[in-house]
This record gives sequence, structure tokens and C-alpha cells, in this order.
Amino acid sequence: MRDTLVLNASFEPLSTVTLNRAVILVLQDKAVVEQAHPELRMRGAALDIPVPRVIRLCRYVRVPFRRQAPWSRRGVLVRDRHRCAYCGRRATTVDHVVPRAQGGQDSWLNTVASCAEDNHRKAARTPEQAGMPLLRQPFEPTPADAMLLALGQDDFESLPEWLAQPAA
Ligand SMILES: [Zn+2]
Repeated sequence: MRDTLVLNASFEPLSTVTLNRAVILVLQDKAVVEQAHPELRMRGAALDIPVPRVIRLCRYVRVPFRRQAPWSRRGVLVRDRHRCAYCGRRATTVDHVVPRAQGGQDSWLNTVASCAEDNHRKAARTPEQAGMPLLRQPFEPTPADAMLLALGQDDFESLPEWLAQPAA
């Protein structure tokens, strides 16, 4: 069972918690269910509620630190919504904007989602050298993106529209 995404009272994603913890928060009236699993329900002696995938805290929690998502290939694909940065078609690979052979790093600002064809065509060149301009600049994932990444891609695909909007 996947973890549940927790939103602040302001709808800003905060963290993920285990399903048990999420249910306790809801039963204690500390959170409300924003999105439930379409089919699964939790049943107990005195309990019958839909399995929460997203809950929202009833009271606003002040968060002192901005979360930074660690870089990952899967993260880049999710951040870019699986769209190739060069042609906009479905991307399955991650391209280094400044190639590693030229000192490019594994970082959010140096990597973009790319289709295999464009990745192969661009090879060890910068977009300028390859004559392949980026459709959009790479960016640091927002805290919301970071939380969505923690939920995994399948859940990401099924999140409500207002959460799934790209941050750019
Ligand atoms: Zn492409």
C-alpha cells in the first residue's frame, strides 16, 4: 500500500505518511480526505471509510524548511511530465544539457527528459552545438513536485488536476 500525501491547510503539499497514520489523522478530525482511492475502502468494527490517497490538515502548519528533492533520473522524467525537452513527444530517457563529457553534472538544472531519438541525435553536444534548442529550461522541482515524486509516478498520474500542474 502506498503512502498518503499530506497537504497543509493551505493545500501546499507537506509530506507523506503511512496509510495508518493518515487514517488516524482523519479519525481524530485533524485532517480531511481530499482524494480517496476510487475502489478501496478501510473497514473495521466501527469504521468504513475510503482509503485516503491525499489528506489535508485542518489547521495550518508552519514549515520552516524548504524541501529539496534529491536528483534522480525518474525524478527528471516526472518533473518534465515525460515530455521530450527537444520535440515535446513522449520521453523515456534523461539528457544532460551540458554533456557529461563536457563537465555537465547530474543535477536538476542540467538534465531534461528526452525521447531516445533526440538523446541519440544530440549525443555529447550542447543544445547550441547540436542546433537543438530546448523547448523549456530545466528547473528545480518545487516542494510540491518533491512530494509528488515521493508518491511515485503512478499516483502522480492519478492526482487531481490542480496538483498535477507543472510548476514552470
Ligand atoms: Zn524528442
